[in-house]
Amino acid sequence: MKLLCALLVFVASASAVKNYAGYQVLRVVPQDMEQLQRVHDLYNLLEDTVDFWKEPTKVNRPVDIMIGPNLAEDVKIELSRRGLDFSIFVEDVQTNIDNERCTDCVNTKAGFDYTVYHTSDEISQWVTDFANEQPLVTEITIGESYEKRLIKAVKISSGGSKRVIYIQGGIHAREWISPATMMYMANQLATTYDTDPEVKLMVDMYDWYIVPSLNVDGYAYTWSNDRMWRKNRQPNDGSFCVGTDLNRNYPYEWGGTGASPNKCSDTYFGATPLSGPEVFVVHNWLQQFSGNMALFIDFHNYGQLWLYPWGYTGNRNTPQPDKTDQDTLAKAATAALEAQFRTSYFVGMSGPDMYPASGASEDYGYGTLGVKYSYVVELRDEGRYGFNIPESMIENSGIETFEALKVLGTDPLN
Ligand SMILES: [Zn+2]
Repeated sequence: MKLLCALLVFVASASAVKNYAGYQVLRVVPQDMEQLQRVHDLYNLLEDTVDFWKEPTKVNRPVDIMIGPNLAEDVKIELSRRGLDFSIFVEDVQTNIDNERCTDCVNTKAGFDYTVYHTSDEISQWVTDFANEQPLVTEITIGESYEKRLIKAVKISSGGSKRVIYIQGGIHAREWISPATMMYMANQLATTYDTDPEVKLMVDMYDWYIVPSLNVDGYAYTWSNDRMWRKNRQPNDGSFCVGTDLNRNYPYEWGGTGASPNKCSDTYFGATPLSGPEVFVVHNWLQQFSGNMALFIDFHNYGQLWLYPWGYTGNRNTPQPDKTDQDTLAKAATAALEAQFRTSYFVGMSGPDMYPASGASEDYGYGTLGVKYSYVVELRDEGRYGFNIPESMIENSGIETFEALKVLGTDPLN
């Protein structure tokens, strides 16, 4: 019996999750344009073999590079050779992974625990249970992922037919704080309608559709195989590398700057626009709201950024008639967010202020769907934990982000 148990343990660990022991994250902060160019050159050289958690953007903005033990020395030598100072920002990624989940926590609250991370199956079940329990909530099945998981939304409505606010989370699999924050906010909307006049106003003004986890396959894979997986799980013809970056697969200005044709890249833009089944089914489903959508937000982490179009170009002078209104509203929203716990956010134009990324969600919301207020948000943190935000921070992320949503959701959004 003992031998059988030992065997079972061995079999279980043979298919275990990828271990990130010895993986470090190096941070480089380019001090001037010349250093920025040198980091860009290094990025172009290493992009397919090294995971850039934060790619080069602007002078004084950090570049975060995760390196495994095999490549660590080579990358460090290469940085030094190029005269680029770096700090070891995360000493051991596996330690952060081990610490993100609170193993000895006890759920003292009855029902679903909004302060811990949940599996793909649990999130799917949550949508069903939430809709059954809450009178304002309806379960919506949008379609299927590549691996035939259901992509679901919750609709929160007090009845009638109103303009629509659409919010999505989890398009990048490893950004766990995003689905957790989506569920937290959906719960606030549904359960404080009777007690919070501001929430009542939000739900009486708009019909809310929230997709907690869009990239359901990738998310499941971050639990079962590789915590740092980003893309979907669709195979690529003629390559061993799996996955499309769904946030480079939208049809607006698809295939341009900041998206890769290389199937092994973490920013691979896919075979054609909307070739990723997850964005394809959501795109089809969103057509019913044509001309009737007031706000579109795609939530990611990390970086604490609230950004508006254009994302596909770094040229600030590209015509974009709504940038002043988008900027004003985003600044009001982030001011309310910051008032909670002093979490500071940067507000700006996605491409010019950060880095160009074509075929991404905020341009799709604005350019394809025609939604005036279209944003992409990078939630906590600034890199100390990166994608491995400890569960103890979920609630505060939910509280502060919901304050921003209150500003937007009580605005006429004209
Ligand atoms: Zn992301």
